[in-house]
Amino acid sequence: MYDFWLTCTRCGTGHPALPLYRCRACGGSLEVSYDYKAIFSRLPFERMAARTSPGIWKYRELLPVFPDTDPVTLGEGGTPLLPSGRMGSTTGGFRLYLKNESANPTLAFKDRPLSVALTAARQFGLTEVVCASTGNTGVAASAYAARAGLRCTVYVPAAAPAEKLEAMKAYGTVLETVTGSFSDAYAASAGEALRLGAFNLTSTYLNPYAVEGNKTLAYEIFASLQTVPDWIIIPVGAGPLLSGCYKGFREMLLAGVIDRLPRMVGVQASGCAPIVRAFQAGEQEVRPWSGSTATLASGIADPLSTYPEDGTRTLAVIRESGGAAVGVSDPEILRCRRMLAEREGILAELSSVTAVAAVEALCGSGAIRAGELVTAVVTGHGIKDMTAAINFEKTGVE
Ligand SMILES: [Zn+2]
Repeated sequence: MYDFWLTCTRCGTGHPALPLYRCRACGGSLEVSYDYKAIFSRLPFERMAARTSPGIWKYRELLPVFPDTDPVTLGEGGTPLLPSGRMGSTTGGFRLYLKNESANPTLAFKDRPLSVALTAARQFGLTEVVCASTGNTGVAASAYAARAGLRCTVYVPAAAPAEKLEAMKAYGTVLETVTGSFSDAYAASAGEALRLGAFNLTSTYLNPYAVEGNKTLAYEIFASLQTVPDWIIIPVGAGPLLSGCYKGFREMLLAGVIDRLPRMVGVQASGCAPIVRAFQAGEQEVRPWSGSTATLASGIADPLSTYPEDGTRTLAVIRESGGAAVGVSDPEILRCRRMLAEREGILAELSSVTAVAAVEALCGSGAIRAGELVTAVVTGHGIKDMTAAINFEKTGVE
């Protein structure tokens, strides 16, 4: 009936477009599949991209929403892609562009997946939404749930930045603070979603509809550059932004709009880096990160405790693309935050500046070569974790 359905990433079983999170046959995670031939024969990709409407919804035929559903939107997407100007050493010999996702309505890239997820909740007739979040997903879920008129409950680890918690409350969300890491919040939210019959918006790979919103990042990067970057650098927890972005490029390849794919780089903070550890060890599967997850980059500190297969999905995309996984330390994060603010005029969240730190590392190791085109994604705004940054600079304590 529709041009999209859900497919199990483990066994390949197809499912109709319903609010599902796991394969009914094997329990594997689901992703959205499309009848691209039908979609592009009705509307070529170039014509979608040429629409004058702003933001992600000009690409709605490539998003998992029914044609008669009104999008839940706050004007997300259409963020600037800025050439790096004054960062000195990091721009030596190659061209660096910064995709500034802090220009989204709730100041982070999460508005892309949450706009799509809340629209999906609307099309399924659901009245309640629930999610686990390190902060940004919860803020975006709260804003879009308010916009859609749905009840929203968010589970957050106690260490989430105060600015984000206050923002969620301001949107009228029910906030549940969980002792432990993001993975503990994940478990609590899954139980509650089941109990309430609520749509689970948790932005790992859990909600297949949310993941699709991330593809629009790729469409926009290409629309701005009119070419494919050699490298795309993205901070990752579980990594749906990285995978979603790569899927967007694969779709443009299929549509005949581009003729090659970028190398994808996932960046994690060294204090919690399960994907980086597996990449460096040459392993095929990501294992959960045990012990401390302490890092200033709270937004990407995900130990993947009960869903390491999400990390494995991201690792597979990184490898397929010929990319890399890079770990960066807290002192590097603080230095890059200052550099990005003072030299480029972009105040980025601590998790986000890891992308810039990774550009430096890849340049230093010779992976990025002279003449190459690099896009680093600045995923969120620095105003959202200002207190944590100030406290650490004063006291050295997270
Ligand atoms: Zn399956």
